[in-house]
Amino acid sequence: MKKEVLNIKQIYKSFAAGQVKTPVLNGVCFSVCEGEYVAISGPSGCGKSTLLNILGLLDTPDSGEYYIDGLLVSDMNANERAAVRSRRIGFVFQAFNLIDEESVLDNVALPLKYRGDNLKQRQRRALECLDKVGLSDKAALFPNQLSGGQQQRVSIARALAADSGIMLVDEPTGNLDSNNGDAVMALLSELNRQGTTICLVTHDPRYAQMADRQINLLDGKVVIETAVNIECVA
Ligand code: ADP
Ligand code: MG
Repeated sequence: MKKEVLNIKQIYKSFAAGQVKTPVLNGVCFSVCEGEYVAISGPSGCGKSTLLNILGLLDTPDSGEYYIDGLLVSDMNANERAAVRSRRIGFVFQAFNLIDEESVLDNVALPLKYRGDNLKQRQRRALECLDKVGLSDKAALFPNQLSGGQQQRVSIARALAADSGIMLVDEPTGNLDSNNGDAVMALLSELNRQGTTICLVTHDPRYAQMADRQINLLDGKVVIETAVNIECVA
């Protein structure tokens, strides 16, 4: 029986623009099991990134409950949430979000600073992760010396660095041509085969089909969810 790692219940979120409050998430519920690969799809503006940011503890819901490993993180203060995030969440952004002034190696090693690893440990682990994404020979270069596809693989290596086991990936192919996009998606499938739990946001149905399960959002609600094919307990 697989363990439930992420569980959100009745999540609501709206954004205020002047006097007007726009509801974005209207009672979203679902859970993700250890080792599962879930794709979240839906039209532009339907709240996919807002949802993934909440799952990644980069944003907070207005109401609803969010559990990671059975712990109620939605009730935690900012410091407690940051500790859970650095231990448990790897995040991959559409625009890579690498630091241009730092080497590829230092970018990948960055999350390890937060858990107190020393320089040697950080560099060893960062090289190991670059090796997993096939870029250990680029360690000394800077992000702008790499192609978009390579930069996205560096950002995946960074998300692997802290060995958090969970990877949240927001439109990873959005800034890539189809060859590089396919390579990044193949890499995610391989990481999932090796045990990484993945939540992928994508608007590309071809890529969504690579996941074990698909969740469709419309107007801030889950409208379609394909069958859960592994048994899961809280
Ligand atoms: P998606 O990723 O599905 O395209 P988003 O989650 O980015 O959609 O956005 C959903 C809606 O919320 C959009 O209408 C967007 O304009 C709005 N929105 C997202 N983030 C903010 C924000 N920080 N402030 C105000 N509105 C926001
Ligand atoms: Mg988005």
